Amino acid sequence: MRVAILGCGQLARMLALASWPLNVRFAFLIEPGENTDCVQGLGTIVERAPGIDAGQLYEALGRPDVITVEKEAVDTQLLQALSAYCAIHPNATAVYESQNRRREKMRLDALGIPSTPHAFASDAASLRAAADKLGFPLVVKAAEHGYDGKNQWRLADSAALEAFLQQQPQGDWVVEAFIRFQCEVSLLAARSATGEVRLYPAVLNHHVHGILRSSIAPAQGVEPAWISRMQDHLIRLLEHWQYVGMIAMECFVIDGGLVVNELAPRVHNSGHWTQQAAVTCQFENHVRAILGLPLGNTDTAITGAMLNLIGVEATPQQALSAHTTLHWYNKTVRPGRKVGHINIRHPEPEKVLAILQQLEQQFYPAS
Ligand code: AMP
Repeated sequence: MRVAILGCGQLARMLALASWPLNVRFAFLIEPGENTDCVQGLGTIVERAPGIDAGQLYEALGRPDVITVEKEAVDTQLLQALSAYCAIHPNATAVYESQNRRREKMRLDALGIPSTPHAFASDAASLRAAADKLGFPLVVKAAEHGYDGKNQWRLADSAALEAFLQQQPQGDWVVEAFIRFQCEVSLLAARSATGEVRLYPAVLNHHVHGILRSSIAPAQGVEPAWISRMQDHLIRLLEHWQYVGMIAMECFVIDGGLVVNELAPRVHNSGHWTQQAAVTCQFENHVRAILGLPLGNTDTAITGAMLNLIGVEATPQQALSAHTTLHWYNKTVRPGRKVGHINIRHPEPEKVLAILQQLEQQFYPAS
């Protein structure tokens, strides 16, 4: 069985590492000049040279059984064109709708799935109207090319809004009310081509400067009924899209329930803990789903956690203990760059929290 992945970052690396034992082989489609350190040695690397068409790419990728994606910014027209040659999972529509915040919000609204209160804006008049509707403080997010808190601006009051408009008089923005959430959780699910859905337990996420720092699962202290209500919405969304593969739904917990912040139609950073603490990890389940193999069990008998290594180096020795495992992405360390993570597993949730706090102090002494 052969899988081609659009992208060559750490998610592509971990998809391949998890599925080599199933005898799945990989090819990676990269844009010219892209850094391929994460996937070196894990399969064929094919560069998308200018002018090459979908049929030639399919051949160069080794005639894969299925093509999947590992990042947000993929060319969905190329996905459409490749669908003439083999299965594409998740499908181009799901990828297209969720790679743009405006389209994503419109899909959620159409399905009646609660998300952060929002308005769309493109110039001074529509941004001021959004502020009138939502009130301050506001979060303005570029519809595209925003992740890990990039391309988003918090506006405290109308003076800040006017200053922002001086800098950027026009754009394509989703404007959100600033949510004073209790906590952030993500819901992870795998859906197979036959419509079977496997849910992982809800994950509690902690962000620092808009970037995921750590996750713990199962999330404690969130009303289970609120989680299952949102999981029902997630399943409806997957059915609507006829979605195949892993998906992550990032949510804010507010008074009375969950609201969606963002969707990620792929394996996700908040699911890395599954590598050590779930029967089947998210990476294997994604590959199982897209190849039409039975989905693996998503149960967690123990508590799992993950600490991202962002701009900090860790050796296998430093991260090794009876309860911790290092995943290093073969990247050069640079400030702000995700270069690896440490997974923690322990039967007792308090112990997991204690180990996580200790590791966080070790790797981020200043914060
Ligand atoms: P995003 O790139 O949309 O996932 O945002 C990154 C992080 O910024 C989130 O995980 C939140 O911690 C924070 N954030 C995003 N949107 C809002 C909002 N509307 N209200 C409060 N915090 C937000």
